[in-house]
Parts: sequence; structure tokens; C-alpha cells
Amino acid sequence: MAEKEYIERNGLLEWTREFYPEEKVFASAVINAPTADVQEVRHAEWVLQENKHPEAVCSNCGREVVYQIVNNRWEFENYCPHCGAKMDKE
Ligand SMILES: [Zn+2]
Repeated sequence: MAEKEYIERNGLLEWTREFYPEEKVFASAVINAPTADVQEVRHAEWVLQENKHPEAVCSNCGREVVYQIVNNRWEFENYCPHCGAKMDKE
């Protein structure tokens, strides 16, 4: 089964009004469509602290985390435990 996708209501409404300006039923359906309980994904990255190993700072919330060394490599979480940001920012 395909992963669910969500559409931003105001964006769809703008599109509807631009391409179907006379179609009021469609615009009304967009306005009245039910909402889903979706949380926006924040993207961030770990910023290493120059003289404070083994600590890194979340680029989204600025809070520090301590990371671990596993098999001689720095082990980072994929998400910030403080703000929930996904660590995939390039
Ligand atoms: Zn954070």
C-alpha cells in the first residue's frame, strides 16, 4: 500500500481559484474537506560543538545532545529528542 500523502488546504484552494475560477462547488469542497491530524516535519542537522565533544546542538531548537561512540564512529540520532526535528537537512 502506498504511503499516505497530504495536501495543504490553502495551496489547493489557490490552485482551484486560479484554474477553475467559476467552479464554486469544488472550492467549497476544498474548504469543507475534513482535516487529518498531521504534524509538519521540521528538518535540521546536528552541529558539532568545537570544544565540547561529545555534544552536538540541534540546528532547529539549539538544544544540546550527548552522542555516543559505537564501533569507533560517532552515533547520531535521526531525530532531535527535544523538538522532534528530522536530521536530514543538507
Ligand atoms: Zn531540536
